[in-house]
Amino acid sequence: MMDDKIYFIKKAYELLDRATPLTYDCGKLCGGRCCKGDGNTGMWLFPYEEDLLKNIYGFEIKDCEGNFGYKMIVCNSTCDRKTRPLACRIYPYFPMITENGYDVRADIRGISGCPVLYENIKPDYSFIRQVRKVARLFDRDDILKNYINNINSMLDEIENFAKEFV
Ligand code: SF4
Ligand code: SF4
Repeated sequence: MMDDKIYFIKKAYELLDRATPLTYDCGKLCGGRCCKGDGNTGMWLFPYEEDLLKNIYGFEIKDCEGNFGYKMIVCNSTCDRKTRPLACRIYPYFPMITENGYDVRADIRGISGCPVLYENIKPDYSFIRQVRKVARLFDRDDILKNYINNINSMLDEIENFAKEFV
């Protein structure tokens, strides 16, 4: 059963295997800032993703506060691109499932660290299209759909909170 569910994550990885936010290596803008963790900060895992990544060398899976019961993964600042988590593949964006269909938003959690967001650089359309396809894919599974909706509600709250201080 779980193998069936892992299909969704594997398929999402495939959709984002080659797609990157910009047409060039955005790590050149910032020295690859989002890969320079401190051993305690990690990437939030999607449902089912832990099962796929738990035995990958170089990754450590840890409990995580705030990720709706799912864990996070900590890397040692290097990885095999083929096994990088979904959070890394979509950063600094996040898929949305709305009444009108599927969409993609900037992930406000990256606003202070990622120049694509704070310099307002237009993302590559084909990347956005692939993230949107992940939204459509995950809409087929209630647990993934709920997770996406929960994260979007959280991002709404952060955005609203941030607006109060502008
Ligand atoms: S922080 Fe943003 S610009 Fe820098 S490597 Fe990560 S996604 Fe690219
Ligand atoms: S898993 Fe890979 S892509 Fe993700 S933060 Fe670590 S080094 Fe970067």
